[in-house]
Amino acid sequence: MGKSYEGERKRLVERLKRHGYIKSREVEEAFLSVPRERFVPEENERFAYADTPLEIGYGQTISAPHMIAIMCEHLELRKGLKVLEVGAGSGYHAGIVAHIVGKEGHVYTIERIGELARMARENLKKAGIENVTVVEGDGSLGLPEFAPYDRIYVTCAAPSIPKPLEEQLKVDGIILIPVGRAFCTLIKGKKTKEGLETKEICGCAFVPLIGKYGFNEFSKSL
Ligand code: SAM
Repeated sequence: MGKSYEGERKRLVERLKRHGYIKSREVEEAFLSVPRERFVPEENERFAYADTPLEIGYGQTISAPHMIAIMCEHLELRKGLKVLEVGAGSGYHAGIVAHIVGKEGHVYTIERIGELARMARENLKKAGIENVTVVEGDGSLGLPEFAPYDRIYVTCAAPSIPKPLEEQLKVDGIILIPVGRAFCTLIKGKKTKEGLETKEICGCAFVPLIGKYGFNEFSKSL
């Protein structure tokens, strides 16, 4: 039988609440339910409940739990929402969001690295999470076949808000996206009939969004 991480999971949640990252019952319950140890490579399993990003291979990382909590709170999630994530990575963040939107809702997540897309699918299956669809592709183009979305969030840093993502968001929907290079600013946008109203949430560090509306794969610049 594998090690139980329940105690470590509870302690992490208490810490995230104490520091004000987790504010709502919905986000708390999701963090208590989704086993982060199932989403990290075996050699990093013992660090699964450290509040830090961890390597998942192919030069990519699973985001730190406090950043995922900040993003989930700002997304103002509730049951039944249709959500698009850009940057599936390990699948963990999508799993947390899927728990909050419940069976009535759905998360579509798009990942440019095929091996990571497959890994995310397997991790979600191991964790018993069924309301997530993982697609391989360039998420800077969004995922028009399932649009429009109630919420869109991006887990890698973009040079600016990609136009296709704004277009695929419903009116009254929310988008969260880190904008900048290595050190970037998390931007929250609310779509109105007139366009996107944006505000800055906090500074952050993310791997780059690479794609048509992102950075160039080789120079990591436009
Ligand atoms: N949400 C992930 C998790 O819970 O493990 C962490 C994601 S990691 C910080 C960012 C991911 O964005 C990487 O897996 C990277 O390959 C992916 N990425 C970068 N550019 C992308 C693009 N244009 N489309 C889709 N995924 C992209």
